[in-house]
Amino acid sequence: MLKVDFHTHSLASHHALNSIEEILQQADQLGMAGVAITDHGPGTDNSVQIAQNPNSAYHWSERIKGPDTHFFKVFLSRYEAPRNIQTKLFKGIECNILGSGDEIIDLPKNLAADFDIVIASVHPLPYIFELQDQKSVADRIILAMDAGADVIGHPFHKTFELDQELIVAAAADKGVALELNNSSLRLKKALESSILKMLGLAKSKGCKISLASDAHATNELGSDECIRPLLSQSDFPEELIINNSLESACRFVNQRKKIRIERVV
Ligand SMILES: [Zn+2]
Ligand SMILES: [Zn+2]
Repeated sequence: MLKVDFHTHSLASHHALNSIEEILQQADQLGMAGVAITDHGPGTDNSVQIAQNPNSAYHWSERIKGPDTHFFKVFLSRYEAPRNIQTKLFKGIECNILGSGDEIIDLPKNLAADFDIVIASVHPLPYIFELQDQKSVADRIILAMDAGADVIGHPFHKTFELDQELIVAAAADKGVALELNNSSLRLKKALESSILKMLGLAKSKGCKISLASDAHATNELGSDECIRPLLSQSDFPEELIINNSLESACRFVNQRKKIRIERVV
């Protein structure tokens, strides 16, 4: 069980199954020290673009809905966890790394200073990220590190093998964490061999790692059954894990928030 889970989704992401309070209550019952609610960025809503391109080959089922900027505004400025909940709530977002254009991630800029944690991930969906060559995917991921991302979500997916040396070195240099995502391994979206390679490189280059369930339902909250064996196999140093305790999680959040405010706001 993760002490602090830095990546979970609520009903606001439309394809996840529980409310924010159900997640918090479950985290509290499990005795977790912290949980980040990181619903998908507003760019996930690709339904408008698909509707505007009736001749495209994309099927209606590829329309993805996500919460809009107003959801994040209320979440950040007005929502508070119930008083009886001991688990610390981190208010986050999982931004989309956008495949092209000057905007690198769909982080609402007017709210950038208010998030505790900003994850940025490649989601290969129509009109969000059309996968091209490995080099251009890696370039966009590295640009995201300077565009407000604190963590790169599920960085090594089996459908887009990337230059791991390049990405791990850039993350280490910029103080951005790479994510060790339990769902990616459980759902076989990432290869164990690739994740072990990431951990080996991270260890040698001093790159930080974030532990995450990427829960889409409360039964997945805090899950780490697929990532723990890889951490032990790599003999991964605790000091490089940003959310091994509430103290380390808060330290990372405070450091990155200052950097994000200087860069984005
Ligand atoms: Zn994701
Ligand atoms: Zn996610």
